[in-house]
Amino acid sequence: MQLTPPVLLCLEKLETSGYPAYVVGGCVRDALLGLTPHDYDMCTAATPDEICRIFSDYPLVHSGEKHGTIAVVIDHELYEITTFRTEGSYQDSRHPDWVRFVPHVEEDLSRRDFTVNAMAYSPTRGLSDPFGGQEDLKNHVLRAVGDPDLRFSEDALRILRGVRFSVRFRLTPEEKTEYAMQTRAGLMENLARERVFDELCKLLPLVSAADLLRFAPILTEVIPELAPSVGFDQRNPHHVYDVYTHIAHVTQAVPGDLTLRWAALLHDVGKPATFTLGEDGVGHFYGHEKVSAAMADSILRRLKAPTQLREQVVRLIELHMLWPSPDKKQIRRLMSKVDAETLDRLLTLQQADTAGKGTQAPADTQHFSQLLQLVHEIRAENACLTLKDLAVNGHDLISLGFRGKEIGQQLNRLLSMVLDETIPNEKEALLCALRQKQQK
Ligand code: ATP
Ligand code: MG
Repeated sequence: MQLTPPVLLCLEKLETSGYPAYVVGGCVRDALLGLTPHDYDMCTAATPDEICRIFSDYPLVHSGEKHGTIAVVIDHELYEITTFRTEGSYQDSRHPDWVRFVPHVEEDLSRRDFTVNAMAYSPTRGLSDPFGGQEDLKNHVLRAVGDPDLRFSEDALRILRGVRFSVRFRLTPEEKTEYAMQTRAGLMENLARERVFDELCKLLPLVSAADLLRFAPILTEVIPELAPSVGFDQRNPHHVYDVYTHIAHVTQAVPGDLTLRWAALLHDVGKPATFTLGEDGVGHFYGHEKVSAAMADSILRRLKAPTQLREQVVRLIELHMLWPSPDKKQIRRLMSKVDAETLDRLLTLQQADTAGKGTQAPADTQHFSQLLQLVHEIRAENACLTLKDLAVNGHDLISLGFRGKEIGQQLNRLLSMVLDETIPNEKEALLCALRQKQQK
């Protein structure tokens, strides 16, 4: 396994001071898979005090010291070194109730969640793999370390982590692990919401439609609002799939961007609640975008999502049924209401939404390429889209004698005319229109 010079330096300094030291966890797994690790966690028999002494010539970060972690700063980068430890369960669902330092790496590995994450490597001591992680990686198996039931009861976030590792590395949960993931999923209700949200954000960009379908029973434990959509028959000729399967396809079809992935996952969450059956036997979901947006807002608030992300997701969901025709005036109007980034995301979501119906016709593809072409043209023209872009401003109106509310009303009227191309965005023409108005 290739290690970087600073990591080698840390391991060597610990070893020459008499303490066994290893890289551990994700980096070992990634290296065995032939991937380049994004960081290297180290573990050692040295206690935090001893680590501080050994690295006294370096800047140190002590914020994790209570849990046994000291970070050493080498060339402006942080290298985390953690004392071998075991830990108690997570009563507050955030941190273990207690940690106890232990002398052997095997004990440290036994507290870790999955066999593929429970390996350590040292250039001098070789691979430590007491639970068969290497073999499981080779066979594409996800297996909890020890008794899965117990491990998921200690910390239910491991269930969601399990989903993520399974998806990310194409690992199939071994039978007992899978059974415990399903049967213990209800325990995730007690987890700190931030932990669940962070984990979902790591998972969402990776999932395919098949993953979302496979892990629906687990996902609906953390987002119960999605449960009614599972298997919900849309009774609509435009839709091949039930609501949840449609959601899964749309989520897969949008890029890995978090805002888009969340918007796709929640865009139709309000459909079951708005279902009506027409006399012709066709299902409708009038106003589902509003209901879905409100539900997404409450889901993301509950999960303590950052405000900006929540607001962007809710806005996209609210807008997702607003289908512009490939008509320049209509698109210009839409562009005057929606900022460029939101519009790009909206069109991406709508494209995915169309594809996710399972009935996509070549006309749909053509429709979107026309829309994108027009958006491109309007942007290239540097068109006037907002009051800020108008060739007249409040001062001009005051000079003409307009006062109070009238100013805003007139500016909006002018913008509307410019958007519709009934008047050019030129100062003289706009002033002329204002004078005519005054004379009426
Ligand atoms: P990633 O590449 O996503 O960072 P990782 O395996 O490094 O993957 P981390 O969350 O960084 O995951 O955790 C580092 C290691 O700590 C894991 O490999 C695992 O051994 C252990 N670990 C992390 N969280 C838990 C947990 N909740 N329960 C048990 N072990 C855990
Ligand atoms: Mg990591």
